[in-house]
Amino acid sequence: MMRIVIVGGGLSALRSAENLRKRGYEGELTVVADEPHLPYNRPPLSKEFLWGEATEDELAFGVPAEEADIEWKVGHSVVASNLDEKTLALSNGETLTYDGLVAATGVSSRRLPIPGPQEGRIVLRSLDDAISLKERLKPGARLVCLGAGFIGCEVARTARKVGCEVDIVAIDPVPMVVPLGKEVGAEVQRRHEHAGVRFHMGQSIAEMLGENRVEGVRLDDGTELPADFVLETVGSVPNTDWLSGNDLDLRNGVLTDAYLRCGAKPGVVAVGDVARFANPLFAADPLRIEHWQTAIDTTVFATATLMADLGLTHERPKPVSIMPWFWSDQGTVRMTSYGMLGIADSAEVVEGELNGECAVSYLRDGQPVGILLIGTEIKQRGARFKRQLAKARKEASAV
Ligand SMILES: Cc1cc2nc3c(=O)[nH]c(=O)nc-3n(C[C@H](O)[C@H](O)[C@H](O)COP(=O)(O)OP(=O)(O)OC[C@H]3O[C@@H](n4cnc5c(N)ncnc54)[C@H](O)[C@@H]3O)c2cc1C
Repeated sequence: MMRIVIVGGGLSALRSAENLRKRGYEGELTVVADEPHLPYNRPPLSKEFLWGEATEDELAFGVPAEEADIEWKVGHSVVASNLDEKTLALSNGETLTYDGLVAATGVSSRRLPIPGPQEGRIVLRSLDDAISLKERLKPGARLVCLGAGFIGCEVARTARKVGCEVDIVAIDPVPMVVPLGKEVGAEVQRRHEHAGVRFHMGQSIAEMLGENRVEGVRLDDGTELPADFVLETVGSVPNTDWLSGNDLDLRNGVLTDAYLRCGAKPGVVAVGDVARFANPLFAADPLRIEHWQTAIDTTVFATATLMADLGLTHERPKPVSIMPWFWSDQGTVRMTSYGMLGIADSAEVVEGELNGECAVSYLRDGQPVGILLIGTEIKQRGARFKRQLAKARKEASAV
């Protein structure tokens, strides 16, 4: 019997498995997942789960194991692969053969080599990380957050909500500068400062202070900040080690073709955070997109490709073309975005005021490439902004 193996145990792995069954795949379906949990929802890890509104059980996606007849090898990682021989080596010594392969291994938190004690340095990517962080978030606890991206700012506001002291240290001029730009980033910083978050921008941590565990940090300019723990949110590293040695382009994720295939041989596709692909709607270079919705959307295209490449359907696969979408809840700062803000070269407020509810259009060479909505009321009108952007992109990509 034919076998498809999905490597990874997150959202894109689960949706890949479900899509394959929906498309009529009846062969063996195995998911190899290194975390000890069945798939769960990550976004609440920096929000509802941390402040206690969502429980561990509520994060679980619910796996239709019996209906979909999926074998879950949970708690084992794939450590190596041979795409010519179609084999995978697992951490438990097992070798798996496959006919079709889905790479759905996501990313890991990037770590910086900083001298000083290691104990008390934490990251936030997995449920286990979130459980450990939650235990530390007590009223009066002192958190230093290294990095001012989405996850850093979300945790900072959650930590303020539970009564922690919070300092954010980041090398950038303003928080989330790459996707949001300087002006919007500065406004978001102002709102977080109003909620009591202290920012130390344009700086990094030169040294962790303390005897055996972190008791503080020294910044580049010599400033010392007390800390009970340091959360490091300085970006991510795609989990591609297991694919090395197969002549794939693994620079910043696994490069795919327009159908999300990787490598020269058919039968291997990539999905979710780990996949780097060109999105013709935005005429951009191949990029990875670390958004929840993209993890889902890519599985729709990739499973169609896989079914066709394995000769299981006569349906022709379609080249991937998606409208990226994300949300970020940072205390009272609620953001929703469509498109690819990060490739813009300018931004302008097109509705409302920057210091209130507003819509900000992001442009590249004068053409809209993204829209950011700040606020909960304007978010209700998201579908209209999304439609307008999609229309503009279709016209621009047809030129
Ligand atoms: C704290 C947090 C908050 C977020 N908030 C938002 C948000 O508000 N909005 C939004 O749009 N997105 C958000 N995201 C991003 C979103 O969760 C991701 O885009 C999504 O989870 C990607 O799914 P994935 O399946 O590609 O990767 P993942 O969910 O990372 O799953 C990959 C899985 O593969 C496993 N794995 C890795 N290597 C191997 C191996 N060799 N063998 C076996 N298994 C392996 C990993 O351990 C992991 O379990 C957030 C992410 C985090 C961490």
